[in-house]
Amino acid sequence: MDTIIKKINEEELEPGCLQDAAAILQKKGLVAFPTETVYGLGGDALDTEAAKKIYAAKGRPSDNPLIIHIADVDSLKDIAEEVPEQAYQLADKFWPGPLTMIMPKSNKVPYGTTGGLNTVAIRMPSNKIALQLIRESGVCIAAPSANLSGRPSPTKAEHVIEDLSGKIDMIIDGGAVGIGLESTIVDLTSEVPTILRPGYITKEMLEEVVGTVDIDKTITAKSMDPNLKPKAPGMKYKHYAPKADLTIVEGTEQAVVDKINEFASQKMEQGCLVGVIATDETFSKYKANCVMTLGSRNDNEQIARGLYAILRDFDEQQVDVIYSEGFADTNLGQAIMNRLLKAAGYHVVEV
Ligand code: AMP
Ligand code: MG
Repeated sequence: MDTIIKKINEEELEPGCLQDAAAILQKKGLVAFPTETVYGLGGDALDTEAAKKIYAAKGRPSDNPLIIHIADVDSLKDIAEEVPEQAYQLADKFWPGPLTMIMPKSNKVPYGTTGGLNTVAIRMPSNKIALQLIRESGVCIAAPSANLSGRPSPTKAEHVIEDLSGKIDMIIDGGAVGIGLESTIVDLTSEVPTILRPGYITKEMLEEVVGTVDIDKTITAKSMDPNLKPKAPGMKYKHYAPKADLTIVEGTEQAVVDKINEFASQKMEQGCLVGVIATDETFSKYKANCVMTLGSRNDNEQIARGLYAILRDFDEQQVDVIYSEGFADTNLGQAIMNRLLKAAGYHVVEV
């Protein structure tokens, strides 16, 4: 299949400029588009065939449900059987934005979209291209991240082109995304709202609106405990992973630098190509084949924005092993560490 690539500036959107993309969605085709979190691979959420195409293009396991993207709060009533009051409160505060809410699904939503679950995940993105695409198509858009399953999520159109060119109808290139990590997912079907995936909207931010919020145990776990089953089916997969083996080294700054340099020198002696994920504070202290910085350790937003792109850059450099510094898991740092731990298959060395 030929994939149409269309460049659009989010700040210069004109009415009708997404008509062709909208028509593809109406005909049950697939369009990748930017959101503020990562690029999404969109199809008609209420159509089983379109959902099937999404799973096929990504190579995504069929039990991993899709998030439905809407452009106005009224659509909630269509796709959720029951909209909890908390959903309206959270929508009022955080939508459009990087928050996904889980609620009971309505009959309109096929099990093909929810991975067989009776619940549905819903989000209203703030990216203007995404919003206009939903409105112009009149379609509730199911959109998982627009990467091949298991690869780091795409934060630029180039990443989507790399993974999905030839497999989908269109890719809208709206430039680099703003946040860089997937949305926070909060489950509103449990007694206490529960975070199933950490993201830009933190527990503290949610608690200001709805009171106590829990966090799924698998998120705070430092290892993959076979007895703990994440409530978001997608969170059980080794995800976001670069091709090389990634190890996180945690400890005080100097100890981490020394340990990573020691590991790197051993591996390079064995003939391996070694990558290091550093921060601005430590960048110049590493000796390895390929050292890249995520930015200053004090700037979590920049780290979040650059993490997936760096993992892909290392793939391109064809490194064999990667060592990364760890990050404090407070606020946005919790989402950063969650993704990094998954990318590393929970391989952490403490020094
Ligand atoms: P992605 O769109 O690639 O960011 O993945 C969507 C994430 O949302 C996956 O981790 C899914 O497991 C999760 N998800 C979607 N729908 C539900 C649901 N009904 N219940 C729990 N988790 C969900
Ligand atoms: Mg994904």
